[in-house]
Amino acid sequence: MDNGLRIIKNLTNIIKHDNVAMEGKLICDCGNTHFEVHHSGKRTRGILAPYLVKNDKQILILAKCPRCGKVITVLDSGLDGHAGCVTDKTTQLFCLKNGECQFEIRLMYNYLEQNFETNLFEDCFIEIKSSCFKKSRSLYEGW
Ligand SMILES: [Zn+2]
Repeated sequence: MDNGLRIIKNLTNIIKHDNVAMEGKLICDCGNTHFEVHHSGKRTRGILAPYLVKNDKQILILAKCPRCGKVITVLDSGLDGHAGCVTDKTTQLFCLKNGECQFEIRLMYNYLEQNFETNLFEDCFIEIKSSCFKKSRSLYEGW
């Protein structure tokens, strides 16, 4: 069974850390690296915590490419990590208060060593970056 990281084909600039962590930047098949985020989670204000948390123990995070229309499943709690839940596919657009809703997306995965580079990660950290803030901010942490 091929249990490689599901999203690997849409990651670029991949960095690996000691067989226990891996990170990369999301890239569309068309080469674009700015995405709309659609999600089924609950929204927080993002202060000292990620912007999104699970809704009823599940979350679906999609990245939609505004250039070619492709939708990339960034994280699906029914498919990725420890999986096991059925994910509600109803999503909403993620926007900041100032109306900004296109972001660069950086993904980081933590692993137990025996599962390195598979889709069975322990935690996923998703960061977003936009022209309106200097540092990346946490969109979601977990699996
Ligand atoms: Zn695209």
